[in-house]
Amino acid sequence: MSDEEDEEDEVIASCHCGAVALGLRLPNGFTGLRRCNCSICSRRNAVVASVGIEDLRVIRGSDVLQTYTFNTHTAKHYFCSVCGIYTHHQRRSVPTEYGFNIACVEGIKIEEFQSVGYLDGRDNHPKDIGE
Ligand SMILES: [Zn+2]
Repeated sequence: MSDEEDEEDEVIASCHCGAVALGLRLPNGFTGLRRCNCSICSRRNAVVASVGIEDLRVIRGSDVLQTYTFNTHTAKHYFCSVCGIYTHHQRRSVPTEYGFNIACVEGIKIEEFQSVGYLDGRDNHPKDIGE
């Protein structure tokens, strides 16, 4: 995360209630688009893309962002403690990246992402299962 005030090329992502807002730098648009069938991803059913750790910053709501971990507790899953929406997670397979919930991005039309396929995080996770 960076505190630099370099906001021109950022897109904004927010939770449902608006308490949490993220700034994302996505010079190549949505990269690594995927769904995942692992135990947590299949339950929240979000379409996610990847962003470098340094290219995501919390604009507001760091006080209400909750962290959830399980299994190896390597991946850190963030969600808004007010409205419950999953915003992003630090990846277990690639700890230098966050995955983020593309449906939180301003202006997104989630229905345009119906064809995004599933990663087999349940049975063939890069580091076994459970990202
Ligand atoms: Zn919220």
